[in-house]
Amino acid sequence: MILIQILSLVTEGLWKTWRAIFHYRLSKDEVDVLTKYFPYFSQLRPIHQKEFKQRLEFLLTEKKFFARGNLQEITPEMKVLIGATIIQVTFGYSNVQLRHFKKILVYPDTYFSNISKAYHRGEVNPRLGIIVLSWSCFARGLADHEDGVNLGIHEVAHALKLENQIRYNGESDFFNPVIWDEYQGLAQKEEEIIRSGKDDFFRERGGEDSHEFFAVALENFFERPELFKDRKPQLYKVLVRLLQQDPITLKST
Ligand SMILES: [Zn+2]
Repeated sequence: MILIQILSLVTEGLWKTWRAIFHYRLSKDEVDVLTKYFPYFSQLRPIHQKEFKQRLEFLLTEKKFFARGNLQEITPEMKVLIGATIIQVTFGYSNVQLRHFKKILVYPDTYFSNISKAYHRGEVNPRLGIIVLSWSCFARGLADHEDGVNLGIHEVAHALKLENQIRYNGESDFFNPVIWDEYQGLAQKEEEIIRSGKDDFFRERGGEDSHEFFAVALENFFERPELFKDRKPQLYKVLVRLLQQDPITLKST
């Protein structure tokens, strides 16, 4: 047992050294894409932008992207913007990069799933360790970045919640259980409010179950934090503590 632990520490150490030397390096064009199309990044202070870029480079070293359906290729723009969404959602946790989800599949548009026999915009499959996204829906979510609807954040939020529960990737249980319980108490009340139709701050999807609520809550947390804090101050504050970041104070402007 001890030998296995030592071996895994050595392997981890070697991998980190290899990654530090040979990691993916963002080109100037790719940094321009971030600055132009990813407001979360462009609004960060320079010191946080530097950290964001380095973490994105490490992430892109480890994730594998695959074009699906009739998508011809994964463009650098797709890689950078999808990777940036993972960094955005996990920015409060410097050691979390959703290791369980090694593969990202991209379809050009909504796609038919043989498992659910329905058209999808995106999904997360923990058994296969994949995140699946429709590029057109992803891009639409990013283009209107203040309406509280963002497919990329939605699917990454599902992956984040699962990653916290999956034990063998060396990055589980990062959510503080006390804060998580506090969050769940407030979330259940909000789910009921959505189902009752008394308040429409969160879209109906959030009333489906606790997984959907978490994903919808994070879309709003990142896309319209000021309004969220104003309308649901307790829930906003608990999410700040849970995710270890506050999108409002992270903005330099
Ligand atoms: Zn969902």
